[in-house]
Amino acid sequence: MTAEPHDVGRQCIAELHDVSKHYGDVAALRGVTLSIAPGELVGIVGPSGSGKSTMLNMLGTLDRPTGGTVRIAGHDVRALTDRQLSALRASVIGFVFQQFHLAAGVPALDNVADGLLYAGPSLRERRLRAYEALERVGLAHRVGHRPHELSGGERQRVAIARAVAGDPALLLADEPTGNLDSRSGAGVMELLRELNAAGTTVVVITHDRDIAASLPRQVEMLDGRVLDGARA
Ligand code: ADP
Repeated sequence: MTAEPHDVGRQCIAELHDVSKHYGDVAALRGVTLSIAPGELVGIVGPSGSGKSTMLNMLGTLDRPTGGTVRIAGHDVRALTDRQLSALRASVIGFVFQQFHLAAGVPALDNVADGLLYAGPSLRERRLRAYEALERVGLAHRVGHRPHELSGGERQRVAIARAVAGDPALLLADEPTGNLDSRSGAGVMELLRELNAAGTTVVVITHDRDIAASLPRQVEMLDGRVLDGARA
């Protein structure tokens, strides 16, 4: 395939065109077309099993589509080797997960600094950038704390600091408030809004309709299809 999926293709940070993903007999995505422009804050919403995580795997280049085109920061993922995909992920995308995924027993500073290992700066530089990222998320006073010494909301802030320490263009958050009480969850959403206002493109996957409704754009999914919001 040689044609651009859309004439706006070059401007988009992420672009899915007619993307399908099959797991054996199961069609997790069925012909999804979606464009995300730089600077957007987008919610992907839908019931369990509607294909949201599969969508995140496509946007995050964690998996390859069965059919269709995925372009991230102008790169057609089909044209890249696994190694090139890893490099693209490391330089362009930050991930935040419901379960935080912090290393147990490791201070916040190093949990964040270790996220920069792939980028290759020295330990001193990694720690400096990690400190700055923890400052951005309001945790400069907690850099020496280990995950078990932090609240759920603070753990998610550390995870967000790790995701943004490398200054990714695209931040993908999969149910980032799913393990938090409503107050901590609201704080995390506020932080994602601030990061977006400062220039990061943010995609939040959620089954929480209130959270989705609070975002400027919602992409609604059902049965592996986008029902609404495919275009900004
Ligand atoms: P959601 O995140 O909205 O809950 P998913 O993307 O996880 O939805 O799943 C969409 C559909 O694909 C579901 O029917 C699910 O069971 C199926 N699915 C997802 N991942 C796999 C997998 N690795 N193997 C088999 N089926 C899968």
